[in-house]
Amino acid sequence: MFSYRHAFHAGNHADVLKHLVLVATLKHLTQKDGPIAVFDTHAGAGLYRLDGDYAHTSGEAANGYLRLVAPGTPPASGPRPAGAAAPGADVAPALQDYLDMVASFNPAGSHKIYPGSPFILHRQLRERDKLKLFEIHPTDAKTLAANIAQLGAGRQIAVLREDGFEALRKYLPPPQRRALVLSDPSYEIKSDYPRLVATLTDAVARFATGTYAVWYPIIPRPEAHDLPRRLKTLANRARRGWLQATLTVKSSKIITDANGQEHRPGLPASGMFLINPPHTLRAALQAALPQLVERLGQDRNAAFSLEAGG
Ligand code: SAM
Repeated sequence: MFSYRHAFHAGNHADVLKHLVLVATLKHLTQKDGPIAVFDTHAGAGLYRLDGDYAHTSGEAANGYLRLVAPGTPPASGPRPAGAAAPGADVAPALQDYLDMVASFNPAGSHKIYPGSPFILHRQLRERDKLKLFEIHPTDAKTLAANIAQLGAGRQIAVLREDGFEALRKYLPPPQRRALVLSDPSYEIKSDYPRLVATLTDAVARFATGTYAVWYPIIPRPEAHDLPRRLKTLANRARRGWLQATLTVKSSKIITDANGQEHRPGLPASGMFLINPPHTLRAALQAALPQLVERLGQDRNAAFSLEAGG
């Protein structure tokens, strides 16, 4: 049933958006002294090789992270996409923090390892903070446990082979009274969409002041289309602030070639939706997203959006 393997997608444009937002969010949350509990409901394998078979087969990182670090990264071809940064603009601090984060997993100048959310989260934690990682795929859960064991982090990190949608409720509210929850399902089954909304509705009811961060694909599927609207309704009903950031890198049109063969574009866009976002996040993304459009945009449809409410 679970065929999704994040190793094929590690470092793609969706990971860039998700992990940039994550780094900026946790940077803010760890400025306060009090300990924080961090939950990753869909953790993946934790570390990925960009020079391995999975990454080579998909080539997705080439149009994501690797494009950001390629010497003289060219701007998108053709007219500059809507919202793109001026060429030569200084690197926005949130983008620089993300690039520094990935670079810290690689010997100088090499780009062989891409850290998944568990390692990105752990890197920012202090000793007093705790991290719980849920991963249901047997192979990825085993790889994740082995990768995490190498950190020697002891009881600071728990790897749980459990359903992240189900398990979260057991831990909320956390004793620390401060929490960040990342929910990054693979959406390979339709029910992930309603389950995500149900999980967050329950989580916000249990612990209204937590920060909740959700990644979602922007694809022509009714459930995907409805998801941000449903998350906004959830946040508004709970009278919580929210922020939505999207990154589109190319057109979503299916192209038919001269032989009548249809070519699907792959994932053209994705979004991050946060409930109770840090107050610094909007400005950080306002500076960074145009630079992602400039550097990752593949055609004139490349664009970003940033909206906040509550
Ligand atoms: N968050 C990771 C990162 O940013 O590096 C990537 C996670 S990947 C998009 C989604 C993961 O969720 C997959 O590894 C998949 O096996 C796992 N998964 C799918 N359904 C799950 C569930 N109900 N509970 C926990 N993990 C699940």
